[in-house]
Amino acid sequence: MKSVLSLRDVTLDYPDGGTTLRALDRVSLDLAAGTFLALLGPSGSGKSSLLAVAATLIRPSSGTVLVAGQDAGSLTDAGRSALRRDRIGIIFQQPNLLPSLTAVEQLLLAAHLRGEQPRQARERAGTLLDRVGLAAAGDRRPHQLSGGQRQRVNIARALMADPALLLVDEPTAALDQQRSGDIVRLLREVTDEFGVATLMVTHDADLVPHTDAVASMADGRLSLGALQSAQ
Ligand code: ADP
Ligand code: MG
Repeated sequence: MKSVLSLRDVTLDYPDGGTTLRALDRVSLDLAAGTFLALLGPSGSGKSSLLAVAATLIRPSSGTVLVAGQDAGSLTDAGRSALRRDRIGIIFQQPNLLPSLTAVEQLLLAAHLRGEQPRQARERAGTLLDRVGLAAAGDRRPHQLSGGQRQRVNIARALMADPALLLVDEPTAALDQQRSGDIVRLLREVTDEFGVATLMVTHDADLVPHTDAVASMADGRLSLGALQSAQ
């Protein structure tokens, strides 16, 4: 199957005083549509850097990043923004919802910024909120939602654009075990139903059974299929 995300020999160096810190060291990875990959590894091993590179938010020092068939390195800043907006859903630990907007408005704002037809956007927002179990909570603002519900809004918002790739960084770090299980099951379901390729960084090895495969990072290097302690 064709890869939605393809990383080839990706190296990322951060300037560090007079020298450099190698956050990613020749990372290669292929992720197909409908595949859910967990990425484990200790703090500082490069997991968030890998997500930022896959999200085209950071340009690697060398190597190739292909998302939905587009070579991020050959795109302009505007081209990469468009790729993110249209093809990539990003879900971080903190949902970053706007405090003054209702759940449905969080989703509509994203669609508005993409220039979508309001009526279609409203319909899709309703369908997605229903899908994540928030059919009755569309008019609630973030402070009226639980942590788990906020993360569901975040997931629904990330799906608004019908992305090819979902990048998820520690989505359950602020949740208890039961809610963490619920969120990762939801990510499993939407990966299947929407045919997205999902890459989820987690510290929680209990979540791994819900995924198709596991990769681990250590010192900027990626190993596929190796389940090491997440710490
Ligand atoms: P993880 O998500 O696995 O904890 P990160 O990708 O955040 O790891 O970080 C990998 C390494 O890169 C760490 O040593 C971290 O200190 C360093 N690092 C991350 N972001 C930056 C940055 N913006 N500037 C300099 N160093 C960074
Ligand atoms: Mg991180």
